Amino acid sequence: MDFTRRGFLGTASLAVASLAIVRPGMASVSAPRKLEFHNTHTGESLAATYWADGAYVPEAMAAIKKVLRDHRDGAEHDIDPKLLDLLVVLRGKLDTTARYEVISGYRSPHSNGLMHEASSGVAKHSLHMEGRAIDIRVPGRDLTLVHNAALALKGGGVGYYPASDFVHVDCGKVRHWGQRREA
Ligand SMILES: [Zn+2]
Repeated sequence: MDFTRRGFLGTASLAVASLAIVRPGMASVSAPRKLEFHNTHTGESLAATYWADGAYVPEAMAAIKKVLRDHRDGAEHDIDPKLLDLLVVLRGKLDTTARYEVISGYRSPHSNGLMHEASSGVAKHSLHMEGRAIDIRVPGRDLTLVHNAALALKGGGVGYYPASDFVHVDCGKVRHWGQRREA
């Protein structure tokens, strides 16, 4: 377990390091996009520049896919780049460089089925099953602030779960649910 985790983090660092190449004359290319995640279930952390020099970076996308895997059964699924871009914009709105704490990323059909049976708050066909949704909190930022910033983006679905201290964000249709607490 520990060995696997070290290997994973080592690979991730390598991928990020190899991306830190400054090319003169490339000023027209927009800034690299970087995200940091901490998976609250596995304890794994990752910092990855997943977009650089005008393209998504396969090694970083693979590392993100791994850190956001289903912690129940270890299943992995591609993560929609649109979701990552949404998280970059959201972090900018929150004016923070804090990492995202991840409560739930990808969910296998089996896991989602079990959760759906156990809770009315879990959709039968969740966008988590497509790698297009994530449940997050942001250290140093109040959940109501994260919630309001996510709503203001109008980039997809936003669910508010104050009792569990997280906000659901997805890159599906623009919609929202969950009881809104007065700030
Ligand atoms: Zn969710």
